[in-house]
Parts: sequence; structure tokens; C-alpha cells
Amino acid sequence: MSWEANVRRVIPYTPGEQPGQQDIIKLNTNENPYPPPPGVMEAIRGIGAERYCLYPDPDAGRLRQALADYHGLKKEQVFVGVGSDDVLALAFLTFFHSGRPIFFPDITYSFYDVWADLYGIPYETKPLRDDLTIAVSDYRGGSGGIIFPNPNAPTGILMDSAEVEAMIRDNADVVVIVDEAYIDFSGDKKSALSLLERYDNLLVVRTFSKSRSLAGLRIGYALGGEKLIGYLQDVKFSFNSYTMNLPSLMAGEASIRDDVYFREALEKVIRTREWTKEKLQDLGFVCTDSRSNFLFASHKRVAAAELFTALKQAGIYVRYFSRPRIDNYLRISIGTQAQMERLIAYLQEYMDHN
Ligand SMILES: *Cc1c(COP(=O)(O)O)cnc(C)c1O
Repeated sequence: MSWEANVRRVIPYTPGEQPGQQDIIKLNTNENPYPPPPGVMEAIRGIGAERYCLYPDPDAGRLRQALADYHGLKKEQVFVGVGSDDVLALAFLTFFHSGRPIFFPDITYSFYDVWADLYGIPYETKPLRDDLTIAVSDYRGGSGGIIFPNPNAPTGILMDSAEVEAMIRDNADVVVIVDEAYIDFSGDKKSALSLLERYDNLLVVRTFSKSRSLAGLRIGYALGGEKLIGYLQDVKFSFNSYTMNLPSLMAGEASIRDDVYFREALEKVIRTREWTKEKLQDLGFVCTDSRSNFLFASHKRVAAAELFTALKQAGIYVRYFSRPRIDNYLRISIGTQAQMERLIAYLQEYMDHN
């Protein structure tokens, strides 16, 4: 028998392309076009060489405390990881252990089914409605856990707070994970965080990659009740004690400290999103009501696959998913205003000549 018979075989997640060239307009992985606040770079530069010889704090205490203070919670309610992908992967391992299928939308972040397959967690996908919103009633009872992003990806559509609460309340016997990767672009008070004091089955997951301009450092976190977070810590310490490297810990803390800069950068992205949406609509695109840092757009006449290829040849990278129901949409990350003006100018040209 060959060794290959004993291999765990999986179909991996496909991340968006990271092109080597410099002159690309990169609107394909929802990164933030603005740099992190100056304090972040200072914090990294300030680390003495002697500290790199030592292991980082396994408890990530200072970063967890900074996040706790920021959100008005206790340190014991905060879990940090190597991007929210790491946090989510550990959360699947920790909380979706019932043997019953977990539920998530049919159109959503395409990593969820990859983790479920990797761990052998059974799952059922629940179809979005025709308007691409999540039908909360489909999730009531019988699952081994629930996960959904809010706003959803790649639609950008935000579920209203009452529906989010219904999802958590109606499924009190399982853990409900709300993946808030894009919530900072949705305006204040849209987060599920305020529900934490009432529901101990809620886990809210956040990332520094999008709104905090730190995709390159890999910082994500989860907020929940102390008991829930305790179980997550136990699994993390059974896997790798030192997930967070020193520069990430220092940079994360510095990022949290500069709230003024953070909010200004957010506002710029949101303004540019609304400007771009209007221009796309003028060009014959239909866009969802995105409350994230990307637009999800479909043209009335020209196929998305064709546009995707043309844009790529022109050095403008966007994301295209060749999946049923969304294969005529482009997901366009919001870059700087100047980048979006170049995108719109190119599309204008294209529509005039095709
Ligand atoms: C980007 C994204 C993540 C992962 O972000 P990290 O860079 O790993 O923190 C998780 N969930 C959704 C919905 C995302 O779009």
C-alpha cells in the first residue's frame, strides 16, 4: 500500500491574487488602500533587537487588554489570532463539535466549507433569498452551530440588528459566530457586540486586515463571554502557544490607540465607495447595497467574466467568482479615490466601444 492512502486530502481555499508588479490597481482582496497610522510603524521600529531573541507573550496580554478597553469588555472576553482566518479556524475546531451539521449561507465567505471539510464537520448551506439577503428563519433549530458574515461577503449586504439577535436567540443551544470582517464600514451601532451581555452563545470575530490597514501583519480577534473565550484559549494552547509574533502584538496595540486616524481613513473609504457606486450605476451596473469596503456589481449588458478579463489585461485586478447565482457579478474593492477614478474611466471607455 502506498503512503498516499494515509494522506488527508483537501481542496484548499483560493485567496485572491497578489501580483508582483507595482503598477497594478489592486482591487481584488479588500485591502485598505491607506497606510496604517504612523504610531504603528513607530511601535515596530521601537522593538529592540534583543527582544527578538525571546518568545513573545503567549497570553498576548497587552493587545487583549487594549482591545478589551476599546470595546468596554474584560481581557478574558478577548481572543487574538493570526488574522481572523486563524481565529475562525480555531473557533470551528472548538465550537462545532456536536456531529450535527453547521449552517451557513450558500453564498458567503468561501473559507467556511474548506474548514468544515478539513475538520470533517458536516454542514448545510442555506440559500440566500433572490435579493441576496440571508433568510434567518431557515436557520432556526437543528444545527450544530451557525456562522455568517455581517455584512455578508461577497454581497456586502448588512443584516439588521433585530435579525442578528433573532439568529442568536433562536439558536441558544449552539454557538453562533458573527464574522464582522467588514462591520467598521457599516457605521456605528450595527455590530452584534451589544448583544454579548445577553447571549453567552455568541462569538463576534473581527480583523485588523480591512478597516485597520494591517493585512500584512495578520491580526484578528474574537469577542465573547468569558466561558466561550476560555474554551477557545484552551484549544489555542493545545495547538500553538505563540501564535502572535512580537511586531504584530506591538502594532495591534498602537493601531487601537489612534482612533482619530482610524476613523478618518474609514470615512475616506466610505465616501469613495458611495462615489464609485453612483458612477457604476451611471454606466449600467446594478450594485447591491454594500456596507463594506467593496462593491458587488453586475452589468445589465456585458458579462462579468468578460469584464474581469478585460480589466485584468488593463492592469486592474478585481475578483470574480465562477459560482452559480453570482457568476455575473464582480467584487470590486474600494481603493483610493484616484484608483477608483481610473477604474471608472476605463469602464467608461470599454462601454463606449463594446
Ligand atoms: C477577509 C476576511 C476574513 C479574513 O481576514 P484575515 O485577514 O484573516 O483577518 C474573514 N472573514 C471574511 C468574511 C473576510 O472577508
